[in-house]
Amino acid sequence: MKCPFCQHVDTQVLDTRISEEGDSIRRRRRCGSCDKRFTTYERIELIMPVVVKKNGNRTEFAPAKMRASLQLALRKRPVSAEAVDAAVHRIEELLLSSGAREVLSGHVGELVMQELMRLDKIAYIRFASVYKSFEDVTEFQDAIAEVGRERKSPPGK
Ligand SMILES: [Zn+2]
Repeated sequence: MKCPFCQHVDTQVLDTRISEEGDSIRRRRRCGSCDKRFTTYERIELIMPVVVKKNGNRTEFAPAKMRASLQLALRKRPVSAEAVDAAVHRIEELLLSSGAREVLSGHVGELVMQELMRLDKIAYIRFASVYKSFEDVTEFQDAIAEVGRERKSPPGK
């Protein structure tokens, strides 16, 4: 850490303290050249990555929009609002914890599909049919096959 007074690069840490909340570290430093003291803080930085669309446009991650599309796919299906909120929250956490600055919209779509697969198979197929827009008939068959494979897996997942 450079000295803010004389720009000397060699500064010594005199004291390190973790805040009461445990979310920041305070360091007392001394410049080896001018002997002045200063304090630095270290904090956790969590940034939601920017969503990069197929056309290259950047857009902010919009949890409300994501919730709306999940709810649309889950229309008249026996899935509670709480379960939808939890799914949206899991996706947010995943994106936050990735530490990435950018995420492809296709990857966000995959995460939504994974959550729908867990929540409700019918909603999953509904979403997949719109999302992938079935450029190819095999995509729909793939989606059906995936649901079939999921059913065969042991319960209690
Ligand atoms: Zn200095």
